[in-house]
Amino acid sequence: MLERQTPMDIADRESVRADLDQAMMAAFCRALNASGLTPMAVMSAMAGALGAVYRQVADSHRRGECPCGWQPAGASDIDMLQTIFRMAASAPPANELLTMPIQGRA
Ligand SMILES: [Zn+2]
Repeated sequence: MLERQTPMDIADRESVRADLDQAMMAAFCRALNASGLTPMAVMSAMAGALGAVYRQVADSHRRGECPCGWQPAGASDIDMLQTIFRMAASAPPANELLTMPIQGRA
């Protein structure tokens, strides 16, 4: 698996994020409708799938199967992913705030 060697600009990162948001929401809705599971059960399965993606990609890099140079940091990578998950789950990103309807006045 080959990753980019050059830093992505912010527009590229936002585009990747938007594509992933859309793909994950579509997968969530499909799984929810097809399984009859609760939203939390489906989200738990998705969280497990993301953890498995991390493990598989990290293992592949530890075996030297990708020339990109990324060296997985194990526990500190997982801590960072947990922090990002917590932030994203508790507050919408700034660009989402701009499009939210105003609920009241202060
Ligand atoms: Zn790589």
